[in-house]
Amino acid sequence: MSRDTRAIISPGALRHNLQVARHAARGARIMAVIKGNGYGHGLIRVARALSDADAFGVTCLEEAVPLREAGFVHPILLLEGVFEEHELEIAARFRLDLVVHSDWQVALLEALGGPRPLSVWLKVDTGMHRLGFPPSAVRQTWQRLRDARGVGPHIRFITHLACADNRDDEMTDHQLACFRGALEGLPGERSLANSAGLLGWPPVLADWVRPGIMLYGANPFVDGHRPCPDLRPAMTLRSRLIAINRVAAGETVGYGATFRCPEDMPVGVVAIGYGDGYPRHADTGTPILVNGIETQVIGRVSMDMLTVDLRGLQGVQVGDPVTLWGDGLPIERVAEKAGTIPYELLCRLTRRVHFEDARDSHHGPGPYPV
Ligand SMILES: *Cc1c(COP(=O)(O)O)cnc(C)c1O
Repeated sequence: MSRDTRAIISPGALRHNLQVARHAARGARIMAVIKGNGYGHGLIRVARALSDADAFGVTCLEEAVPLREAGFVHPILLLEGVFEEHELEIAARFRLDLVVHSDWQVALLEALGGPRPLSVWLKVDTGMHRLGFPPSAVRQTWQRLRDARGVGPHIRFITHLACADNRDDEMTDHQLACFRGALEGLPGERSLANSAGLLGWPPVLADWVRPGIMLYGANPFVDGHRPCPDLRPAMTLRSRLIAINRVAAGETVGYGATFRCPEDMPVGVVAIGYGDGYPRHADTGTPILVNGIETQVIGRVSMDMLTVDLRGLQGVQVGDPVTLWGDGLPIERVAEKAGTIPYELLCRLTRRVHFEDARDSHHGPGPYPV
């Protein structure tokens, strides 16, 4: 038997979550954000499942070109635009759309000749202060782009929300007002909303929405206990028990001997660790399912293994399935214990994890694939 550490990806859950986004978008078009290797789920696999989206958003050419090569004809937006001059020619050849966030990118487009003008999205900095033009520079930049030889006729506008994940934060209203003010009278489609904006802030829907994390089934809100539409986890991370030990009261488990057994107890060893991308900070108390039943991680996570508390679980055997997150165990709970967010957990699984499509593309736990 080979090491059985798998990420099982459900195309049905991805499709379902896209439907949820579609419904919430109230007619706005949907750019499915599939950067970061489809948030760690696999770029092409995710693009196939989400092919009903109106466009895709990615970070760089390395993520965009494989989509074209796989046959996708959707608009594809490079969310940070080009990083270097020579990328413009490739972007034109593969019909990729560009965010333009800085003067140096505008200058490259002004200098560009060639038969194929590019579609651009002018990025407006409405308060996040990461990428984009300040509101006061938007009109003049729009004029330069309109006159640039390398730019196509439809210039669109985009901004990014800093605090939409907190429904009590006023920042989103300020950003919306800032965006509207900066664009007053300028023609062109507009986009503001990430997942949290889409689900939590109807006024920001505009012409295009850009959901990412919600498509993968994670709740985008910090107040994760407040209601969120029925999203389904697209990834279930699973492994198996490879050993079961009876450890005597007073003995310790794992590196640093951080967990001391309060009684004689069975301890399971699971074939997954931080070398697979499971977070090392998810130590004692992190929820985990053994045979579908919730128990806790105990001690420190090692590179290749972690240990679980098997007290109270009946009939557990070596080889039994373990769920780290996904069906039956929301990834938000693991992220919280590990001091991080679902985004980071999803995109940092390593190549040692075997990826496969769920056999059923319907929802629900389904049988464990053998
Ligand atoms: C990543 C990203 C998104 C998607 O954000 P989520 O929080 O995952 O929905 C949207 N827009 C831009 C510009 C992004 O970089």
